[in-house]
Amino acid sequence: MSKRWVIKLGSGLLTRKDGRIDRAFIRDLVSQVAALRRRRIEVILVTSGAIAAGMTAMGLGKRPRSTRELQACATVGQPELMAEYGRHLRRHGLIGAQLLLTYGDIDSRARSRNARATLDHLLSRRRFVPILNENDAIADEEIKVGDNDRLSAHVAALAGADRLVILSGIPGLMTKPDGTGELIPLVRRIDPGIRALAGGAGSERNVGGMVTKLLAAEIAAAAKVETHIADGRRPRVLADLAAGKPLGTRFALR
Ligand code: GLU
Repeated sequence: MSKRWVIKLGSGLLTRKDGRIDRAFIRDLVSQVAALRRRRIEVILVTSGAIAAGMTAMGLGKRPRSTRELQACATVGQPELMAEYGRHLRRHGLIGAQLLLTYGDIDSRARSRNARATLDHLLSRRRFVPILNENDAIADEEIKVGDNDRLSAHVAALAGADRLVILSGIPGLMTKPDGTGELIPLVRRIDPGIRALAGGAGSERNVGGMVTKLLAAEIAAAAKVETHIADGRRPRVLADLAAGKPLGTRFALR
């Protein structure tokens, strides 16, 4: 039985301080994904960064505020983002396959069944790496998930994944709400104490912060998927997770 992982990459990892796409990060991440595929782990990527890539292409210094401008930005950035993944995947004999979803799709039995069938088909061929993002171009308040932490959890549930790996710029859940203190390696229950550690919402480059990561862990757990939050910049993070090394915060909720 092969394993199936959903791996979520946040904008904070994919963009550099100057707001441009971090090509070196994507190159390294893709080679780690290729290594997982060689270990027969099926990988579905959920990637942010469309808006960041669009901002770069459109020469915007600040994240736009209006929904329309954000949507326009995403339509420009999404193909740029895919091209970047594609370039690196090809070096490993892999091909990126794009799926863009909204909550409307996840919430519809017929559409989510179709998405699952497409994912199953792609993953049954070793060359494909499904790459998902929210369909920001058409997602409005009514049908959007709004952050890719929760989107990745819905995808993990829909795809029948074994594991959801949320890679971000932080090592995991920390003992202080400001993200300092010590790393909490294992969470078995999300109680008010744990919620209090999640601190505030995200920032410009970190849409949901820790709050949406806890929500994601709960959504995933309802579908019996374990969630792992780990530092995406840690060298060999995916190989170490696959080897069962203790790193990041594991949510094994009961
Ligand atoms: N879907 C958005 C993007 O690709 C980002 C949402 C998020 O980072 O959570 O830019």
